[in-house]
Amino acid sequence: MTAATDTSRPSTERTGFPCSREGCERPRAEKATHCSFLCKAIECELARIQRLSEAVGPSPVVAELWSHATTVGDSWSEVLRLHDHLAQEAEAVGISAEQWSAIRDGG
Ligand SMILES: [Zn+2]
Repeated sequence: MTAATDTSRPSTERTGFPCSREGCERPRAEKATHCSFLCKAIECELARIQRLSEAVGPSPVVAELWSHATTVGDSWSEVLRLHDHLAQEAEAVGISAEQWSAIRDGG
């Protein structure tokens, strides 16, 4: 697993490169734009909806589409937050970062 898709403990303090997705404050790899594949996909989807909205004008369907897409983003942020929390709990019981990565990724 690459750092770009790593969902382990936060390390923005170490890298200084936050995820590009609005609302996500997780760290990303220096050469990546986002902390995870889904952050990038969610940002692309929101941009797509924005373009469609500008093309068709105000629409209840676009509004509903936007609402669901932002809900996905919020849910993904919560998944990432809980991953970070769980990694901290693992560290507190003596599981090393390397062990945690192997357990998490099935390697
Ligand atoms: Zn992110």
